[in-house]
Amino acid sequence: MYKKEKIFIVISLVAISVLVYSFLKTQRHGFAPMQRLKADSGQRIVMGTFAHVVAVAGDLETAGKCIEAAFTEIENVDALMSGHKSDSQICAVNRDGAKRAVKVSEPTYKVLDRSIEFSKLTGGAFDITVGPLVDLWHAAGEANSLSDVNTITQARSKVGYEKLILDVNERTVRFAAEGMKLDLGGIAKGYAIDKAVEAMKLAGAAGGIVDVGGDIRCFGRPSEVKKYWLIGLQDPWKAQNNIISKDYILVLRLTDAAVATSGHYRRYAVIGGKRYSHIIDSKTASSSEKLASVTVICKNAVDADGLATAVSVMGREKGLALIEQIPDAEAILITPAPEFKRIQSSRAAQYIE
Ligand code: ADP
Ligand code: MG
Repeated sequence: MYKKEKIFIVISLVAISVLVYSFLKTQRHGFAPMQRLKADSGQRIVMGTFAHVVAVAGDLETAGKCIEAAFTEIENVDALMSGHKSDSQICAVNRDGAKRAVKVSEPTYKVLDRSIEFSKLTGGAFDITVGPLVDLWHAAGEANSLSDVNTITQARSKVGYEKLILDVNERTVRFAAEGMKLDLGGIAKGYAIDKAVEAMKLAGAAGGIVDVGGDIRCFGRPSEVKKYWLIGLQDPWKAQNNIISKDYILVLRLTDAAVATSGHYRRYAVIGGKRYSHIIDSKTASSSEKLASVTVICKNAVDADGLATAVSVMGREKGLALIEQIPDAEAILITPAPEFKRIQSSRAAQYIE
């Protein structure tokens, strides 16, 4: 054999070896399923409710860090938007909003702005200025007697999103009337969940689920073999006596989606033996009893949370009509006792197991 041919054969063999090695390497790192490990927070208490986070990552240390990143975000949102923590921005607005324009952080402004968008979209069914009526609801529950008409009329006059003045340039918020009060209970959890998911992705999670008080967002997949996260929808009848009841009326199959449930079985006041929902129709100044529960599925948790509260107030016809007109939003409604009938939007079935 000529020397040149020998050299050619050697070069070819080296080239083939390099190709085979690269191919195997791609197989190992590019196409073979990545190892996925799961960390689970267990139940913790945040935002006055139970929260549960699961993170999936390449290693357990990262997964654990993702869980802590999620809770840090949830606690940050609560510190800004709680109506109970006197040093929160929402409490500052409630204290001073009628006297002066109060400067708020970007996240708080974002939630206030989104809330007003929801108020416009829902004809005022969703309204974070409902605070004075929520206070009456609390007081009535404690006194075990309904407030008198004058007190209700007085509180009603302090409610209305059109009296909430936002200044986007200054990032301030102001009240147009004395005695107004914001309550972000119908939307802050959803926003906190979205922030938690964002933080988990940044911290390296390939997948995960964040559940704060039954409002949930999931992303990625739970394991190599499972593509969807399974989320049970509580039976409102069973859950009214046991908020962590595992009696489900159906199971949802989701990924990269959020689901929120509002229901008068979740939080209520008992007055004269009758249950009154914590969701208030600000037009009638009364508890909304039109539906036993409303579950909304959409891309992000802030929208799912706000819409579930809004549809609870709007009721079956108007609520479903609203959901049908929003792309990517679906809803499952349960009518009140004694029927507990399930009604759902036209494309909700795709998410039901
Ligand atoms: P949950 O807190 O059980 O998940 P929701 O998301 O529906 O239920 O929020 C209900 C809370 O929202 C109430 O406790 C109150 O703080 C507030 N809220 C009550 N009525 C309204 C309303 N019409 N619009 C916006 N928020 C409301
Ligand atoms: Mg809500």
